[in-house]
Amino acid sequence: MTVEQRPNVPSTTPTAGRRTFLQGVGAVALAAVTAPSVARGEGPIRWKMVTTWPRNFPGVGTGADFLAGLIGVMSGERLKVKVYGAGELVGAFEVFDAVAQGTAQMGHGASYYWKGKHPATQFFSAVPFGLTAQEMNGWLFHGGGWELWQKLYAPFGLMPIATGNTGVQMGGWFNKEIRSAEDLNGLKMRIPGLGGEVLARAGGTPVNLPGGEIFSALQSGAIDATEWVGPYNDLAFGLHKAAKFYYYPGWHEPGTTLEALINRQALDSLPKDLQSIVLNACRVANQDMLAEYTARNNTALETLVNTHKVQVRAFPKDVLAKLKTLSEAVVGEIAAADPAAREIHDSLRRFRDQAMAWHRLSEQAYMDARLA
Ligand code: CA
Repeated sequence: MTVEQRPNVPSTTPTAGRRTFLQGVGAVALAAVTAPSVARGEGPIRWKMVTTWPRNFPGVGTGADFLAGLIGVMSGERLKVKVYGAGELVGAFEVFDAVAQGTAQMGHGASYYWKGKHPATQFFSAVPFGLTAQEMNGWLFHGGGWELWQKLYAPFGLMPIATGNTGVQMGGWFNKEIRSAEDLNGLKMRIPGLGGEVLARAGGTPVNLPGGEIFSALQSGAIDATEWVGPYNDLAFGLHKAAKFYYYPGWHEPGTTLEALINRQALDSLPKDLQSIVLNACRVANQDMLAEYTARNNTALETLVNTHKVQVRAFPKDVLAKLKTLSEAVVGEIAAADPAAREIHDSLRRFRDQAMAWHRLSEQAYMDARLA
């Protein structure tokens, strides 16, 4: 679907985060008096968007292109955003600094890449045994999460916003069956972020490899296992040709949230309507990516199972129980080490408890009923 075909683009920021948004607008109204003129008729404002993805990478990368296109269309081409794939303007892991320093006005990536800036950034992308996509959106936009995220990024001069979600990922590709927690011992697996830390505590060896190197590492036996995303992206990488067993669920990435990073000064210098367009385009792109992953994972799973005869396996209950216990420890230690991390962790945990209580009666009960 092209940008022009997407219906019902909201013209104002919905209730979610409205308080923060209005506060931002107040500051902008003042700033606008002295900011350089961006009146109509002077030609478009041009922004650069740097991303952590290879150019046109399915799902996450095309999501960044969709966002840029949407901003152009919604603004009547008054604001034009040019997308740069990883390495085109800056390297994948330089996106945060590039936007903070104003080399680019926007970035698209995932906050767990920035744990070197602050360990709590990881709480806004994927927490093992944390929130699903639906719950992440609830927490961020109506549960106080976005405000905490903005507070964490404010010292860097950055405005973050959820701009995509993969949904629950898969547990990964393995060349041997995982029958008990013992089988994780000595397992060399490509698994980044908090999930990797958890695997290390389970006796495994986490490896962090960029997407482009995964297939050959798995095929050559340099690694025993890998996680990547889900059927849609995994099929495209051909991972089924390098490993026998496809495990679920992705306990380590239950609703991985992608982010847009916006240079605060650049955002504040825009007229109010363009600011609203940028933020709301991010929110449309956020929902759209989840919709795309949902649709494409369905068909890709069918292809993997029916055409490629992939053997799909569930992690045994005791394996998941052990990983969950270790995850709580890893996440708890990050929270204990820093006041900002503690505040975010406590908010996230409170929201998860509430969401679990409600979803036990709604999503979970319904899905169980549908299977019955
Ligand atoms: Ca992953």
